[in-house]
Amino acid sequence: MARFPCKCGRTLSNTACPNDVQLKVYTDREWDDILNMGNSIDPMDIPDPKYGVWRCPVCERIYFFDGTRCVKIYSLEKQASLFQRIVTKAKSFFQALATSTRGLFLLIGGKNTLNDGKMYKL
Ligand SMILES: [Zn+2]
Repeated sequence: MARFPCKCGRTLSNTACPNDVQLKVYTDREWDDILNMGNSIDPMDIPDPKYGVWRCPVCERIYFFDGTRCVKIYSLEKQASLFQRIVTKAKSFFQALATSTRGLFLLIGGKNTLNDGKMYKL
């Protein structure tokens, strides 16, 4: 039973049982070891996972604890909206098109130099 301040300001607690903060996260190897304990496993014999994992219900940060020491924090990445991603892609497409079109016009126009000053054979 503990409390922990999340970076978003929410106080996380596992004092209520059950709660939505504390997660039971096992590695595949840990889970395999549990399954190999036998055909009839007493739930009280199931060991705790190696790391304590808590999730903030507000910001969804994930905290990994080794004992009582927080060893890793994961937070959600902000993702650009679909509109912002389309605008960014369109800008880079038209910039690339403008650059390649200018080079193409120089070649078609009979010039054999591009903006870099180097000579090119046609
Ligand atoms: Zn939080």
